[in-house]
Amino acid sequence: MEHLWTPWRSTYITGKTLSECIFCAALEGGNDKRDLVLYRGSHNFVLLNRFPYTSGHLMIAPNRHVCRLSEMEEAAANEMWRLARCVELIFTEVYRPDGVNLGMNLGEAAGAGIAAHLHLHILPRWNGDANFMTVVGNTRVMPELLEDTFAKLQPAFAAL
Ligand SMILES: [Zn+2]
Repeated sequence: MEHLWTPWRSTYITGKTLSECIFCAALEGGNDKRDLVLYRGSHNFVLLNRFPYTSGHLMIAPNRHVCRLSEMEEAAANEMWRLARCVELIFTEVYRPDGVNLGMNLGEAAGAGIAAHLHLHILPRWNGDANFMTVVGNTRVMPELLEDTFAKLQPAFAAL
């Protein structure tokens, strides 16, 4: 599990977006398709990970730029968990995975790529996908185009 959330980290670190928060940028961007924002709740929003570990890899982030769970308001924390449960159902319907990973890295020491803005990773998993990743080493497997992922998931979120 230790290396699970890190394949895209170096891209974020070496990328030019480091100076601004990608979550706040997506939230304020005004172009949900471009920014891969699937859903906007009252306190949180859902967006695809641009560097997915598997097809469907998405993130739930609070609208507020906070770095700790304890900084979230009760209502926001509750909504995040409610959305996580919705995502589980949506994954089941759209991707029929064998399992689902949920993960959160609080702080850089814990492996957060963007430590300043809390986010919950959720990704569908299939039997054997981790073995495949081990074989290919550092090569990122992207079995599906992000636009296709967005097109598949967006209707399910629109129905929430
Ligand atoms: Zn932010």
